[in-house]
Amino acid sequence: MHFHPEDVFGLCLERAKKLMGSAKYNSWLSNASFRSYDQGVFTIGLDSEIRANFVTHNYKDNLEELLREVTGDEKVTVVFTHAPETLSIGRVNNSSRHELFSNFLKPGYVFDRFIQGPNNRLAFATAHSVAYEMGHSSTNPLFIYGGVGLGKTHLIQAIAHHIKDHHPDKTFCYISSEEFLTSYVRALNPNKNRSRDMEIFKDRFRNSHYLIMDDVQFLAGKESTQDLFFHLFNDLYLRGRQIILTSDRPPHEIEPLEERLISRFQSGMVVDIKPPELETRLAILNQKLKDENIRLDNDIVFYLAETVKANVRQLEGAVNLLAANIRIQNIDLSLENVRSIITEYLGASSRRLNPTTITSAVGDFFGVNPNALRGKLRKREILVPRQVSMFLLRDLTNLSLEEIGAFFGRDHSTVLNAIKRVNSMMADDSFFKRKILDIRESLLG
Ligand code: ADP
Ligand code: MG
Repeated sequence: MHFHPEDVFGLCLERAKKLMGSAKYNSWLSNASFRSYDQGVFTIGLDSEIRANFVTHNYKDNLEELLREVTGDEKVTVVFTHAPETLSIGRVNNSSRHELFSNFLKPGYVFDRFIQGPNNRLAFATAHSVAYEMGHSSTNPLFIYGGVGLGKTHLIQAIAHHIKDHHPDKTFCYISSEEFLTSYVRALNPNKNRSRDMEIFKDRFRNSHYLIMDDVQFLAGKESTQDLFFHLFNDLYLRGRQIILTSDRPPHEIEPLEERLISRFQSGMVVDIKPPELETRLAILNQKLKDENIRLDNDIVFYLAETVKANVRQLEGAVNLLAANIRIQNIDLSLENVRSIITEYLGASSRRLNPTTITSAVGDFFGVNPNALRGKLRKREILVPRQVSMFLLRDLTNLSLEEIGAFFGRDHSTVLNAIKRVNSMMADDSFFKRKILDIRESLLG
């Protein structure tokens, strides 16, 4: 194999997006993720059966064509799966203790490869200390939060790697809250031996010295899952087991989440990761360029570090794109070429998502003047779209509650209430929910 399958797939997705148009792409392929490559077969994960079926029927041929073009291999095929990435419950018995969920760890997500900067130093130090000394009450649970692509998953997987490599006597369970949910639902499946599966499911957690759960914000609104999680949490906690959690926001902003869970989450150490500043971006870039064996002039590296600043994942995406351009199309990386590649790469996302574009999209959909959304009127015709705007700003940008409030001339608790309100309206009214999802899609498209 003379190519990196993951890069190739990423490049094909970029092309598919251009060919399909963003709206379709966002509906069907935006959460496609590379799973594996084996003897000419790309396995691609999608988040639901519906998506996997639809994509198989409608886009499989096109994607295969793109993949063949990029790899130069006429026999390449693609299969789509919606199975979660973790082991299934039944296999727990015959896997060694350390294999529990650990097939999901990315090899490169280790402490040594995590670049420290003022934005993440405390999170790094705490994660490091937890990996070396578990269950210390001041850092249990450890709750790490921050925006997407800032290194939360990397850090907590580094803890898991450390345990795996240095503490063979300790077990850990690494799982995302979405997988927790899926496994829980599967254990409840009435077609199976329900109570047995449920016990196996619970045992997986009870027996762990470290419970590492990624993206707990997805527990929001899932009451029975929260309930189960609360009990597992307490059970582990009382036995001095270390719990490590991440989220894209601090505990009190996860909505709706049971009070008792919020207070559990806050009871240990809560640390955040912020977007990296220039120097840290430079250091991360240099590490990544070295991995990819790309040599760039200093002014180009500097240009990249100055321009690509939303988060680390975006920075990595930029390097991957450059790498793919070199490998596949043999493009010479002059500053001019890099500029045009990066401008296009950044274009789509940065243009669209800011308070003004979001309020005007919401205004369009609800047929109200976007300026009124920032005004004082409290009529229902204005109030609801205003709340929706707040909800979408929170959802689609990195702005804090305070910043969103400021845009509307209101305080953060108003924003928080608006988000709560929109969530509950979405839960009660499927037409309303569809409308919100449509606005969201139009903004992302
Ligand atoms: P999150 O879970 O916060 O969304 P990830 O942990 O998935 O973010 O990080 C996104 C990508 O950026 C990963 O490939 C990760 O290795 C990389 N990354 C993030 N922060 C750093 C860092 N400080 N040093 C090196 N790589 C980083
Ligand atoms: Mg993550």
